[in-house]
Amino acid sequence: MAVSPPTRLALRGDLLDFTAAPAWGDTASTAVRFRPDHHLLVEGGRIVGAQPAAEPLDPSWSVADHRGHLVLPGFIDTHVHSPQLDVIASHGTALLDWLDTYTFPAERRYADPAEAEAGAARFLDALVAHGTTSAVVFATVHKVSADKLFEAAQARGMRLITGKVLMDRHAPDGLRDDVEQAERDCTDLIARWHGVDRLAYAVTVRFAPTSTPEQLAMAGRLCASHPGVYMQTHVAENVDEVKWVAQLFPEARSYLDVYARAGLMNARGVFAHGIWLDDTDRALLHDHQALIAHSPSSNLFLGSGLFGWRAAEAAGVAVAVASDVGGGTSLSIQRNLADAYKVQAMAGERLSAWTALHAATRGAALGLGLEGEIGSLEAGATADVCVWDWAAGPVPHAHVGRGAALGLGLEGEIGSLEAGATADVCVWDWAAGPVAQRRHAVATALHEKVFAWMTLSDERNLAAAYVAGIPRHQRGAALPC
Ligand SMILES: [Zn+2]
Repeated sequence: MAVSPPTRLALRGDLLDFTAAPAWGDTASTAVRFRPDHHLLVEGGRIVGAQPAAEPLDPSWSVADHRGHLVLPGFIDTHVHSPQLDVIASHGTALLDWLDTYTFPAERRYADPAEAEAGAARFLDALVAHGTTSAVVFATVHKVSADKLFEAAQARGMRLITGKVLMDRHAPDGLRDDVEQAERDCTDLIARWHGVDRLAYAVTVRFAPTSTPEQLAMAGRLCASHPGVYMQTHVAENVDEVKWVAQLFPEARSYLDVYARAGLMNARGVFAHGIWLDDTDRALLHDHQALIAHSPSSNLFLGSGLFGWRAAEAAGVAVAVASDVGGGTSLSIQRNLADAYKVQAMAGERLSAWTALHAATRGAALGLGLEGEIGSLEAGATADVCVWDWAAGPVPHAHVGRGAALGLGLEGEIGSLEAGATADVCVWDWAAGPVAQRRHAVATALHEKVFAWMTLSDERNLAAAYVAGIPRHQRGAALPC
């Protein structure tokens, strides 16, 4: 793990980040800072400045030449579940059934330290390989699962916020804690990890139905007695879930009010989803400067609902973007942003690439109180930087497509690769490289280029990812961690 960054590293490419929040719908926003063909100057793992590539550099700088590539701050995934890589893309359920059928069995495996350790490594390597260098993560109810995530993030030099899940009811055997043990576990983990290197603890309430009122109160006490810790949970994701919470907590005005009553509303609160909120809830989120982690691919995949981004924005609520894997279908932030655009389109809104990318970088950092460290290419920030192809080239793998022939009664002739069928065969690139390349070539305005990139790209476009100035992912190369 002893990888030290070059003292002075200059990353050459087209630099793009934000200096302010872009106004909704403004495709010509001056909050965007685009610096084509620049050197991003990194010293001792921190960004120290940038200058046009045409200006000479003295020989003390080693140059990583990514010219012609898009250089962005590493993405920040504000809500994702490490053990749920195992259940991504599971068929046929909405939230509550999905938890019982897929998620809980997968999470039970993390009681085993070896499983937790291997899972943490697999998860963090996957994040970085998707261009995500910081994340707010749910571990499992097991203390060891959080321990192993912290260890793995520390070894990779990553900014990570996580915690052991609190869950003392409405969960199967092997996945429940109790108030006293959970409090001891959290206190231990906070003492061991919170504020160490780039790590922070999050008091992690799975959601109101799986914690007793006593456990919620204990979580509130932890937040109050450890200022600076985060709090993460789910809120108002699914209609049946909202009804269940109303039955369990009849005294609360709303789902969010359950958390407010337990003392869980604060500026370090990260609330996933927030689809079924009202104006009073949004005012409460705003008053406490809490963050919503909008998880569009999960919301579509589980049929949870369409997030009202404009209403949140109008109420002054901070919104970041999240993959919510495994409810979400990809760790790729671009894929989630492309879904976010479609969710807004269903409401007649037009999400700009600027608002979308801001929510995955500077906006998320602001919401987490980490704007000096992550989310921008500003001098002083840690050099968490990703280098992207504007358009990925064709990938030299191919597979064979098929058509549906059964409905036509022609299944013996067409639609399969079965012996006896006529050889009607198509060969496809796995990646739509030429389409994206062409779209990029004909785009003129910057927003047009970046919006097309955001919509068409994914992790296959990632050329390199740097964490604190150290290359942690390079396409086609095995790197130490
Ligand atoms: Zn979630």
